[in-house]
Amino acid sequence: MIKIGIIGAMEEEITPILALFPQAQEIALGGNVFYHIAYKGAEIYVAYSKIGKVHSAITASTMILRFGCEKVIFCGVAGGLDTDLAVGDLLLGSKLCQHDVDISAFGHPLGFIPESRVFIETDENLNAIARQVALESNITLKEGIIASGDAFIHSKEKKQWIIENFGAAAVEMEGASVAVVCDSFKVPCCILRSISDSADGAADVSFDEFLDSSARIGANFVKQMIDRLV
Ligand code: SAH
Repeated sequence: MIKIGIIGAMEEEITPILALFPQAQEIALGGNVFYHIAYKGAEIYVAYSKIGKVHSAITASTMILRFGCEKVIFCGVAGGLDTDLAVGDLLLGSKLCQHDVDISAFGHPLGFIPESRVFIETDENLNAIARQVALESNITLKEGIIASGDAFIHSKEKKQWIIENFGAAAVEMEGASVAVVCDSFKVPCCILRSISDSADGAADVSFDEFLDSSARIGANFVKQMIDRLV
């Protein structure tokens, strides 16, 4: 029986996911609530981690080590960096990096941690399923590097800095940590983000306005991926 973990960062990101599945059983653990759903012979675990790399790493680890999830999908919103990305667009993270990691004082590249890598790739099979869903549903799914860090990016300067240093298409606060956890335990991972803002001076206002609608777009997409996985 396949076990799949679905993670969001905020309650608003998992509410539309839970609405698409039948009755969920709640499991409280580690200051979080995990929703266990029996679906078409599969076991689905859904949770929101709370914002940031630490919380999302805890949730991804719990999904894998405690609940035995064999695949992890992160679904949430992000700030678009690429001029090509507009609010509501869906982005598949090809690889993830941590834009706030800096031990360059010792000659290391930005984002690099010894014994790790600057970029962590996501799973090619899950990404292929995402592309297939997009194709069959006539949804435009863009792909690119996603940069994560423990800050909400809302300035032209910082946005430009992330683009220049990491070549990222979008920025958020959890994807890279989830990717690191999954990579460490050799669990396939997929990072899907719908754009809520453009990480510029108007990002906070845009985020508040589009969080729910963008989260719904991601949720519907993930449900279609699940239907192909089970
Ligand atoms: N409004 C919330 C805080 C949101 S923080 C509150 O007051 O509690 C932004 C969340 O959305 C994070 O989970 C992050 O992953 C994602 N995100 C969307 N746009 C972002 C941006 N411009 N920079 C960083 N993270 C962003």
